Amino acid sequence: MAALYGDSRLPSSAHLELTDRCNAGCPLCSRTSRATGGASVFVKNVDLSLEIIRRRFCAEFIRRSQFKYVHLCGNYGDPLVHPQLFEIVEHFATSGVGLGIATNGSVRKPRFWKRLGTLLAAHDIKSKITFGIDGVDHQTHETYRKFTHFEKILENAQAFIRAGGVARWQFIVFDHNEHQIDRAREMAASLGFQSFKLQVGNRIRPKKQIASGGDEAVSDKGYGVSATIQDRKGRRMDYGIRLGDRLAEATRKAHQYSPDTIVEDVIPCKVKAEDSFFVSAEGFVFPCCWTALHYNRLRHAHHPNVEETALWTATTPRYAWSEGTNVYHRTIGEILKSGFFADIDRLLQPGRKVPIWPCYKTCYLNANKNVLPQRQQGSARAG
Ligand code: SF4
Ligand code: SF4
Repeated sequence: MAALYGDSRLPSSAHLELTDRCNAGCPLCSRTSRATGGASVFVKNVDLSLEIIRRRFCAEFIRRSQFKYVHLCGNYGDPLVHPQLFEIVEHFATSGVGLGIATNGSVRKPRFWKRLGTLLAAHDIKSKITFGIDGVDHQTHETYRKFTHFEKILENAQAFIRAGGVARWQFIVFDHNEHQIDRAREMAASLGFQSFKLQVGNRIRPKKQIASGGDEAVSDKGYGVSATIQDRKGRRMDYGIRLGDRLAEATRKAHQYSPDTIVEDVIPCKVKAEDSFFVSAEGFVFPCCWTALHYNRLRHAHHPNVEETALWTATTPRYAWSEGTNVYHRTIGEILKSGFFADIDRLLQPGRKVPIWPCYKTCYLNANKNVLPQRQQGSARAG
């Protein structure tokens, strides 16, 4: 199996967390604290600077790595909140780099979205913006997407699409919105979205089978989660969401993971397949967003408001939260040569004892891959 990162070869794509700030307060998001309802302890309210992005992803880096795609998303923030999002997109688009952006769509005004659509349409690159819209009316959508505005999202998405941008409607299925799936699909088509994606999260389960995606049967057993969510301005909203069998399944698998776990197969590493790496809003580099999340939990393990603790095992590679792994201080090539990445790679080989939790759970057990087939709509550019 090829190494995670070779000695001199640079990855051809990246996942950047432009910011850990967000206008929304989705209850199950990693940025939302279940303990307080506000921002979690992981959130530092920082933006990855335009200047460092231009420096690290300079023309020379793009040429040497044959860099072709950047995904703007992250663990704790919405990229559209970054004050220089347009300039960052412009930097990559004018360099011939394709872009994928994930957003709640409820930030900025239609004229900004029109500019963004015009910019992306003017370049011969693959690009797509995924809007998270979990309903066909404000009340249903905001049941989960707290502090966002359904009408505003549609206005923004339409301004973007009319200007030539390629958009995808992503619909996370919950008990409270599954009756709106067909209507949402129709709306996506009539509004010019290129595609519609149904997503069933690993902690959420609809009550009935919703597509021929090979889903397992669903029981009526459910977990209830309720809390009060609080945004930056101190506004508070209650929520209550039923969680189903996938939570139970994830919990069961989590209990199987122990310091004696041995994986006999190769772990199919997603970032190896994608030839990618992850940069956090603070500038720290990891293989992927899942490892970044895991190490952030380890970093804050003793904080009283960290509900989901991560397991240190004897084989867990140590991560130096230091200049040596941060793009503000080192080049990407220098960082990827650090022993941490080689250590992670070793744990992906067959027969290794205790791969780190995200590798075991996300890529080995495949717990997060219950994404139902998409339907293409219209004949817009592929993204
Ligand atoms: S919009 Fe995205 S980043 Fe913001 S709270 Fe929701 S899931 Fe988290
Ligand atoms: S979780 Fe582990 S195996 Fe999966 S993409 Fe990240 S580094 Fe690779």
